[in-house]
Amino acid sequence: MEKPNQDWTARVEELAHTRLSECYQCGKCTAGCPRGMIMDVPPARMMRAAQVGDILETARADSIWRCLSCLTCSARCPKSVNVSSVVDAFRQISIETNSMSPESAKIVEFQKAFLRNVRRNGRTNEVEMATDFEVRYFFRRFDVMNVINTGLLGTKMLKRGKMNFAIGSPVKDKDLVKRIFSKCDVKL
Ligand code: SF4
Ligand code: SF4
Repeated sequence: MEKPNQDWTARVEELAHTRLSECYQCGKCTAGCPRGMIMDVPPARMMRAAQVGDILETARADSIWRCLSCLTCSARCPKSVNVSSVVDAFRQISIETNSMSPESAKIVEFQKAFLRNVRRNGRTNEVEMATDFEVRYFFRRFDVMNVINTGLLGTKMLKRGKMNFAIGSPVKDKDLVKRIFSKCDVKL
């Protein structure tokens, strides 16, 4: 008999390329996670949620966007489960189902601005990326405080010579960057 959430579990396995059933909930992934203290759903609980198909609830968790993709969880797993890929799978499902909280939505917007910048130039340009992020985020959320805070941060960075005003300054082989992005199914 088909389990009620079987499709979701299979979808996480397909996206993560790892076997969820291998996890026996030892908790080593959570114990080693450098962000574990601020995660509402730590890695071992994510694994359990994926095993039982409780996907949509976990896709709303802020943890999946607080993860640093440092791979410590995957390296520590005694069953060689790729936990970090499972977190990535949750991210993808979170975007597909538009499940993130406003705080996480801001992180996603920033990551998209970063990727647009890399797609355009092959490298990041802080001024261009920050402007892209601020304008889009402002018109989406009308978050004036965010603009002020970024302006203050930008001023500090400017004083320390950390801002590059050479708009664009792309890499030589932009076609290579284009080819990489064309192979990724990424909507920006
Ligand atoms: S370390 Fe591996 S086996 Fe242990 S809880 Fe995490 S994923 Fe499961
Ligand atoms: S990849 Fe993410 S979940 Fe895994 S240990 Fe690093 S921060 Fe924690």
